[in-house]
Amino acid sequence: MFEVYERENVTCVEIEVPNMPDLYLFVTDGMLVDTGAKSFETKIIPFLQEASFDKVALTHSHEDHTGTAPWIQRNLHIPIYISPLGIEVCSLTAPYPKYRQAVWGNREGFHPLPIGDTIQSRNIEWNVFQTPGHADDHIVLLDEETGTLFSGDLYVSPKTKVIMRDESIPQLINSIRMVLTHDFGSMFCCHAGYIQDGKRKMQRKLDYLENLSGEVKNLYENGLSIEEIDQKLFRKKYPITFVSDGEWDSLHIITSVIDQSKS
Ligand SMILES: [Zn+2]
Repeated sequence: MFEVYERENVTCVEIEVPNMPDLYLFVTDGMLVDTGAKSFETKIIPFLQEASFDKVALTHSHEDHTGTAPWIQRNLHIPIYISPLGIEVCSLTAPYPKYRQAVWGNREGFHPLPIGDTIQSRNIEWNVFQTPGHADDHIVLLDEETGTLFSGDLYVSPKTKVIMRDESIPQLINSIRMVLTHDFGSMFCCHAGYIQDGKRKMQRKLDYLENLSGEVKNLYENGLSIEEIDQKLFRKKYPITFVSDGEWDSLHIITSVIDQSKS
Protein backbone atom coordinates (compact mmCIF):
# COMPACT_ATOMS: atom_id res chain seq x y z
CA MET A 1 0.00 0.00 0.00
CA PHE A 2 1.18 3.48 -0.90
CA GLU A 3 -1.35 6.17 -0.09
CA VAL A 4 -1.26 9.95 -0.29
CA TYR A 5 -3.84 12.01 1.59
CA GLU A 6 -4.32 15.39 3.29
CA ARG A 7 -4.72 16.00 7.01
CA GLU A 8 -4.91 19.62 8.23
CA ASN A 9 -2.72 21.22 5.53
CA VAL A 10 -0.27 18.34 5.64
CA THR A 11 0.15 15.88 2.79
CA CYS A 12 0.72 12.47 4.34
CA VAL A 13 2.38 9.63 2.44
CA GLU A 14 1.65 6.29 4.06
CA ILE A 15 3.69 3.25 3.08
CA GLU A 16 2.87 -0.24 4.25
CA VAL A 17 5.96 -2.20 5.34
CA PRO A 18 5.63 -6.00 5.60
CA ASN A 19 5.74 -7.21 9.25
CA MET A 20 6.56 -3.70 10.51
CA PRO A 21 4.66 -0.55 11.44
CA ASP A 22 3.78 1.70 8.48
CA LEU A 23 6.25 4.35 7.35
CA TYR A 24 5.29 7.97 6.65
CA LEU A 25 6.69 11.10 5.09
CA PHE A 26 5.01 14.47 5.03
CA VAL A 27 4.87 17.66 3.01
CA THR A 28 3.59 20.91 4.45
CA ASP A 29 3.90 24.51 3.29
CA GLY A 30 6.63 23.68 0.78
CA MET A 31 8.71 21.61 3.18
CA LEU A 32 9.26 17.85 3.05
CA VAL A 33 9.60 16.27 6.49
CA ASP A 34 11.60 13.02 6.24
CA THR A 35 12.13 11.13 3.01
CA GLY A 36 11.17 7.49 3.56
CA ALA A 37 13.38 4.48 2.91
CA LYS A 38 15.42 3.69 -0.18
CA SER A 39 13.73 0.28 -0.46
CA PHE A 40 10.50 2.11 -1.41
CA GLU A 41 12.10 4.64 -3.76
CA THR A 42 10.33 3.33 -6.89
CA LYS A 43 7.10 4.54 -5.28
CA ILE A 44 8.45 7.55 -3.38
CA ILE A 45 10.40 9.22 -6.21
CA PRO A 46 7.36 9.70 -8.50
CA PHE A 47 5.61 11.35 -5.53
CA LEU A 48 8.62 13.62 -4.90
CA GLN A 49 8.67 14.61 -8.58
CA GLU A 50 5.05 15.77 -8.39
CA ALA A 51 4.99 17.32 -4.90
CA SER A 52 5.67 21.00 -4.29
CA PHE A 53 8.50 21.59 -1.81
CA ASP A 54 11.76 23.52 -1.82
CA LYS A 55 13.45 22.31 1.34
CA VAL A 56 13.74 19.16 3.42
CA ALA A 57 13.85 18.73 7.19
CA LEU A 58 15.04 15.39 8.56
CA THR A 59 13.96 14.42 12.08
CA HIS A 60 16.99 12.14 12.45
CA SER A 61 19.51 10.19 10.40
CA HIS A 62 17.95 6.69 10.53
CA GLU A 63 17.73 5.07 7.11
CA ASP A 64 13.93 4.87 7.03
CA HIS A 65 13.84 8.69 7.26
CA THR A 66 16.78 9.57 5.01
CA GLY A 67 16.56 6.88 2.29
CA THR A 68 15.67 9.11 -0.67
CA ALA A 69 17.61 12.18 0.53
CA PRO A 70 20.61 11.32 -1.74
CA TRP A 71 18.26 11.20 -4.75
CA ILE A 72 16.74 14.56 -3.73
CA GLN A 73 20.20 16.09 -3.36
CA ARG A 74 21.34 14.83 -6.77
CA ASN A 75 18.14 15.60 -8.70
CA LEU A 76 16.28 18.46 -7.01
CA HIS A 77 19.23 20.50 -5.73
CA ILE A 78 17.35 21.86 -2.73
CA PRO A 79 18.68 22.26 0.83
CA ILE A 80 18.31 19.34 3.24
CA TYR A 81 18.59 20.05 6.97
CA ILE A 82 19.33 17.79 9.92
CA SER A 83 20.67 18.19 13.46
CA PRO A 84 24.40 19.01 13.43
CA LEU A 85 24.85 15.67 15.23
CA GLY A 86 23.50 13.77 12.21
CA ILE A 87 25.64 15.28 9.45
CA GLU A 88 28.61 12.94 9.66
CA VAL A 89 26.63 9.68 9.70
CA CYS A 90 24.66 10.87 6.65
CA SER A 91 27.88 11.13 4.65
CA LEU A 92 28.39 7.35 4.96
CA THR A 93 26.78 4.70 2.77
CA ALA A 94 24.52 2.33 4.73
CA PRO A 95 26.25 2.66 8.15
CA TYR A 96 23.88 0.12 9.74
CA PRO A 97 23.56 -3.67 10.07
CA LYS A 98 22.66 -6.11 7.28
CA TYR A 99 19.14 -6.88 8.51
CA ARG A 100 18.32 -3.14 8.35
CA GLN A 101 19.84 -2.93 4.87
CA ALA A 102 17.54 -5.81 3.87
CA VAL A 103 14.41 -3.97 5.03
CA TRP A 104 15.26 -0.33 4.26
CA GLY A 105 17.81 -0.62 1.46
CA ASN A 106 21.35 0.74 1.23
CA ARG A 107 21.08 4.46 1.67
CA GLU A 108 23.96 6.21 -0.07
CA GLY A 109 25.94 8.99 1.58
CA PHE A 110 24.70 12.56 1.20
CA HIS A 111 25.54 15.97 2.65
CA PRO A 112 22.82 17.77 4.63
CA LEU A 113 23.13 21.19 6.27
CA PRO A 114 22.93 21.85 10.03
CA ILE A 115 19.46 22.88 11.17
CA GLY A 116 19.20 25.83 13.57
CA ASP A 117 16.79 26.53 16.43
CA THR A 118 14.10 27.34 13.87
CA ILE A 119 13.41 26.46 10.25
CA GLN A 120 11.34 28.58 7.90
CA SER A 121 8.95 26.96 5.43
CA ARG A 122 7.14 29.23 2.93
CA ASN A 123 4.86 30.85 5.52
CA ILE A 124 5.64 29.22 8.83
CA GLU A 125 8.53 29.44 11.25
CA TRP A 126 8.98 26.07 12.93
CA ASN A 127 10.66 25.69 16.29
CA VAL A 128 13.27 22.95 16.30
CA PHE A 129 13.71 21.01 19.54
CA GLN A 130 16.55 18.59 20.23
CA THR A 131 14.89 15.42 21.50
CA PRO A 132 17.52 12.67 22.01
CA GLY A 133 16.63 9.22 23.30
CA HIS A 134 15.57 7.30 20.19
CA ALA A 135 18.62 8.73 18.38
CA ASP A 136 21.25 11.28 19.47
CA ASP A 137 20.45 13.48 16.48
CA HIS A 138 16.66 13.40 16.87
CA ILE A 139 14.69 16.65 16.56
CA VAL A 140 11.00 17.57 16.41
CA LEU A 141 9.40 20.54 14.62
CA LEU A 142 6.62 22.60 16.18
CA ASP A 143 4.47 25.38 14.77
CA GLU A 144 3.38 27.13 17.98
CA GLU A 145 0.67 29.04 16.15
CA THR A 146 -1.36 26.03 14.95
CA GLY A 147 0.03 23.54 17.46
CA THR A 148 1.25 21.22 14.71
CA LEU A 149 4.04 18.85 15.71
CA PHE A 150 6.23 16.70 13.49
CA SER A 151 7.40 14.17 16.04
CA GLY A 152 9.72 11.94 13.97
CA ASP A 153 10.21 8.78 16.05
CA LEU A 154 9.63 10.39 19.45
CA TYR A 155 6.21 8.74 19.79
CA VAL A 156 5.87 5.71 17.44
CA SER A 157 3.69 3.72 19.88
CA PRO A 158 2.11 4.31 23.30
CA LYS A 159 3.77 1.31 24.95
CA THR A 160 7.38 0.79 24.02
CA LYS A 161 8.29 -2.90 24.39
CA VAL A 162 11.62 -3.15 22.57
CA ILE A 163 14.27 -0.57 21.77
CA MET A 164 17.58 -0.54 19.95
CA ARG A 165 20.85 -0.96 21.82
CA ASP A 166 21.83 2.74 21.61
CA GLU A 167 18.44 4.12 22.59
CA SER A 168 17.93 5.51 26.08
CA ILE A 169 14.62 5.48 27.94
CA PRO A 170 15.70 8.14 30.50
CA GLN A 171 16.73 10.48 27.65
CA LEU A 172 13.48 9.75 25.83
CA ILE A 173 11.51 10.59 28.98
CA ASN A 174 13.36 13.92 29.34
CA SER A 175 12.73 14.76 25.69
CA ILE A 176 9.00 13.95 25.94
CA ARG A 177 8.71 15.99 29.16
CA MET A 178 10.31 18.96 27.40
CA VAL A 179 8.01 18.70 24.38
CA LEU A 180 4.98 18.44 26.68
CA THR A 181 5.84 21.85 28.20
CA HIS A 182 4.67 23.23 24.82
CA ASP A 183 1.13 23.24 23.48
CA PHE A 184 0.33 21.13 20.48
CA GLY A 185 -2.68 19.35 19.04
CA SER A 186 -2.15 17.42 15.86
CA MET A 187 0.94 15.27 15.76
CA PHE A 188 2.50 13.71 12.66
CA CYS A 189 4.42 10.58 13.61
CA CYS A 190 6.64 8.77 11.08
CA HIS A 191 5.26 5.35 12.03
CA ALA A 192 1.77 6.10 13.43
CA GLY A 193 0.84 8.88 11.00
CA TYR A 194 -1.66 11.61 11.81
CA ILE A 195 -2.74 11.75 15.46
CA GLN A 196 -5.35 14.39 16.17
CA ASP A 197 -4.97 14.55 19.95
CA GLY A 198 -1.19 14.37 19.92
CA LYS A 199 -0.51 15.94 23.27
CA ARG A 200 -2.81 13.55 25.13
CA LYS A 201 -1.26 10.53 23.39
CA MET A 202 2.24 11.77 24.14
CA GLN A 203 1.29 12.30 27.80
CA ARG A 204 0.06 8.70 27.96
CA LYS A 205 3.32 7.45 26.56
CA LEU A 206 5.20 9.48 29.17
CA ASP A 207 3.04 8.01 31.96
CA TYR A 208 3.76 4.50 30.68
CA LEU A 209 7.52 5.10 30.47
CA GLU A 210 7.68 6.71 33.91
CA ASN A 211 5.78 3.80 35.49
CA LEU A 212 7.95 1.30 33.68
CA SER A 213 11.15 3.03 34.84
CA GLY A 214 9.85 3.07 38.42
CA GLU A 215 9.15 -0.67 38.28
CA VAL A 216 12.57 -1.42 36.83
CA LYS A 217 14.33 0.58 39.56
CA ASN A 218 12.26 -1.08 42.32
CA LEU A 219 12.96 -4.59 41.10
CA TYR A 220 16.66 -3.78 40.74
CA GLU A 221 16.85 -2.37 44.26
CA ASN A 222 15.16 -5.56 45.46
CA GLY A 223 18.06 -7.55 44.08
CA LEU A 224 16.70 -8.89 40.79
CA SER A 225 19.16 -9.22 37.91
CA ILE A 226 18.63 -7.43 34.60
CA GLU A 227 17.54 -10.73 32.97
CA GLU A 228 15.10 -11.46 35.81
CA ILE A 229 13.57 -7.99 35.52
CA ASP A 230 13.27 -8.44 31.75
CA GLN A 231 11.46 -11.77 32.17
CA LYS A 232 9.12 -10.33 34.78
CA LEU A 233 8.14 -7.19 32.84
CA PHE A 234 8.30 -8.38 29.23
CA ARG A 235 7.53 -12.11 29.30
CA LYS A 236 7.75 -12.58 25.54
CA LYS A 237 10.53 -11.93 23.05
CA TYR A 238 9.54 -10.44 19.71
CA PRO A 239 10.83 -11.82 16.38
CA ILE A 240 12.74 -8.55 15.79
CA THR A 241 15.02 -9.46 18.72
CA PHE A 242 16.18 -12.60 16.89
CA VAL A 243 16.16 -11.09 13.40
CA SER A 244 18.31 -8.18 14.61
CA ASP A 245 20.67 -10.43 16.58
CA GLY A 246 19.74 -8.54 19.74
CA GLU A 247 20.00 -4.95 18.44
CA TRP A 248 16.29 -4.66 19.29
CA ASP A 249 15.55 -6.08 22.74
CA SER A 250 13.44 -5.22 25.81
CA LEU A 251 16.68 -5.84 27.73
CA HIS A 252 17.98 -2.47 26.50
CA ILE A 253 15.02 -0.73 28.16
CA ILE A 254 16.05 -2.22 31.51
CA THR A 255 19.75 -1.53 30.99
CA SER A 256 19.25 2.12 30.02
CA VAL A 257 17.10 2.77 33.11
CA ILE A 258 19.54 1.05 35.49
CA ASP A 259 22.64 2.65 33.96
CA GLN A 260 21.13 6.09 34.43
CA SER A 261 20.00 5.51 38.02
CA LYS A 262 23.55 4.33 38.89
CA SER A 263 25.19 7.46 37.43
ZN1 LIG B 1 14.37 6.12 13.90
